[in-house]
Amino acid sequence: MIPRVRMLKDRVQSIQARVSLAIAIAAVAMGVAALLIYSATDRLASLPERLYQRPYKVGLALRDVRADLMIVQYSLQNLASAPTPLTLRRFKQKVQAADGRIASSLKVIDERFDSERALVSELRTGYLAWVPVRDAVVAEVEAGDAVAAYTLVKTEAVPMILDVVEDLDFLLTLSDFYAGTARSQNQALRRMTFGGVLIALLVGLSGLFILSFFLRRAVITPTTEISRAIRRIAEGELHHPIPFCNRPDEIGEIARSTKIFMDYALALKRLELDWLTGLASRDQLREHVGLLRTDPETQALPSALAYFDIDDFADTNDAFGRKGGDALLIHVAKVLRDHCRIGDFAARDTGDGFIMLILGMPDIEDVTRLAAEICIDISKGVDFEDQALRCSCSAGVVMCDPQEAVDELLLKAERALQQAQKNGRGSVEAYTEELGERLRHHRETLAGLNFALQYDELVPFFQPQIAADTGELAGFEALVRWNHPEQGVLSPWQFIDVAITGGLLSKLTDMMISKSLQQLADWRRRGFDVPRMSLNFAASDLGRAGFVDHLMLEVERAGLEPSDVCVELLETAMIEDAGEPVSRALDRLGQLGFKIELDDFGTGHAAISTLHLVKLSGIKIDRSFITNLDQNLDQQHLTLGILRISRALDIGTVAEGVESEAERDLLVKLGCDTIQGYWVSPPMSAADTTLWIEEYRPQPCTDTVAKSA
Ligand code: C2E
Ligand code: CA
Ligand code: CA
Repeated sequence: MIPRVRMLKDRVQSIQARVSLAIAIAAVAMGVAALLIYSATDRLASLPERLYQRPYKVGLALRDVRADLMIVQYSLQNLASAPTPLTLRRFKQKVQAADGRIASSLKVIDERFDSERALVSELRTGYLAWVPVRDAVVAEVEAGDAVAAYTLVKTEAVPMILDVVEDLDFLLTLSDFYAGTARSQNQALRRMTFGGVLIALLVGLSGLFILSFFLRRAVITPTTEISRAIRRIAEGELHHPIPFCNRPDEIGEIARSTKIFMDYALALKRLELDWLTGLASRDQLREHVGLLRTDPETQALPSALAYFDIDDFADTNDAFGRKGGDALLIHVAKVLRDHCRIGDFAARDTGDGFIMLILGMPDIEDVTRLAAEICIDISKGVDFEDQALRCSCSAGVVMCDPQEAVDELLLKAERALQQAQKNGRGSVEAYTEELGERLRHHRETLAGLNFALQYDELVPFFQPQIAADTGELAGFEALVRWNHPEQGVLSPWQFIDVAITGGLLSKLTDMMISKSLQQLADWRRRGFDVPRMSLNFAASDLGRAGFVDHLMLEVERAGLEPSDVCVELLETAMIEDAGEPVSRALDRLGQLGFKIELDDFGTGHAAISTLHLVKLSGIKIDRSFITNLDQNLDQQHLTLGILRISRALDIGTVAEGVESEAERDLLVKLGCDTIQGYWVSPPMSAADTTLWIEEYRPQPCTDTVAKSA
């Protein structure tokens, strides 16, 4: 029972439910009341019935008396006509019996017919008056005087009785009248009671219905809608109108209070500042620009946006903890505030991004200069817990086009910032259409690359490497190409940076490994003697978890040996900065028997100092040394130097970008092992490479030929 009550209680949590319940209870109460009223009025209606019982009983008594009198009169007539001892005895019997009955009936009449007391006593008197006459008749009969008895009966006794009967009849008429009236009164009252209760019930129910209708309209609906509005405010929707504000009653009062509450929340939101730095938010900046654009005083002024971002902010957080990071953010906000002139506006975007609106500066160069000054001030850092917290800050700036949405402008400033960050720490870059175009192209290329990887549009091309002196095929370098459905075959410089920054390089590398090794295995199956395949890897490839295992698996799957594969690496992957996983991967590759060559040797910064770090099998001399080698003595000296170093370290050399026979001859003379370049062949598709291999006839260097001759 109790759970049920609780369930019901739960159900009547809303006003609406409570009102419905109250109305239901009221309806039931009304039904009960109607029943009670009905029974009460019914009892009231039976009052006339009780009243009518009296005249009814009186009527019966009167009729009894009348019947007895008629019997007496009849016996009297008999006695008069034949005054014998037999008739006399019968007469006496009848009179005796009638006397008793009449006495009790008269008693009833006396008691109950009190409205006609006078008539009743007249009746009694009349009846009593006849008793001596009756006795006289009996005496005459007993005396045997038939004539006297007959005369007494006819002249006195019978008229006397008939007199009484006449009185009785009158009383009977009266009592019948009373009884009839009481009965009809009773019926009328009953009808009235029933009708009245029915009408009362109907009126009550319709009253309840109207009440509930008005309650719903006046209280329930408005309170529900206002409560919805309050919830919307709590959820931050502050621009919906509040209903019922102009109602004059208490509901209107609640609605108006809600409106005040909403306005207050709106005002708070407008004022809402970043809790940490006290700067405005991006939203507020947007609103502020909106105001500037509509204000006639500022409308025409040029404005610019600068987006600042602390370089490697995550490192500060790591080194100094959140509190250190917070201190730095507060410092940035202070610098920005210090640089704000009248009309300028500083805001904090998410994280370590800050925005400054610079008003009235028409020249982008001035804006860039100001942003650079701010970056310098920010980089001075701040003291935190007795330590100097230093950082650098980059910025992107853009001139505001009044037609353009603030978010669009901020996006441009952020793009300029991206460019600045690419240029190096602490840089400032202004947004130009060209930069925008470049970034747009970058985005499109990235999307295209994703698609290309999925639909196999990326393929390896192969460029032969030959022994410098004999011309024998030494192997191929696999170079990626994009078979673009619209733009034709694209070279790596057109997309590889995008793949790197867009996080697609690992997929690209995996594709190159798989397809190039399969191709090498295929050539070998067809009987071509291709000694090795060179693949290009970035430091990020080597740093990947499980990279060496993956490469090994692919080698095995193609049925090759690690010594069939040469790993080409840029110098930057070799320097100590590249990180622990990279050097570990290089060590393992060396141990497994992979060849490792240093690509573009001579262009990087740590060229010579890195050579001892890893067990190298060779270096690739960069194209810039080889191009026009035969015409430039300095280049020849440098190349010779490189070749001597490699000889000292006992590692091989590959010269890239050999475009002429003269270059080749010179390289042979200088002692270079392997050459690669357009003079041998440009990179080719797999099919073209197969044809090339079939047709290739090694041409030994003329000097070599001469020497051996
Ligand atoms: P790289 O590794 O230095 O590749 C040699 C580049 O020099 C190739 O350009 C090749 O076509 C070009 N080349 C070869 N011989 C000559 C010549 O005689 N004259 C001239 N002017 N150029 C010559 P490519 O194929 O456009 O590749 C450019 C760069 O893209 C490569 O430089 C390499 O760093 C990168 N790359 C190519 N494929 C891959 C790859 O699969 N993975 C990675 N990570 N990078 C790749
Ligand atoms: Ca290479
Ligand atoms: Ca190279």
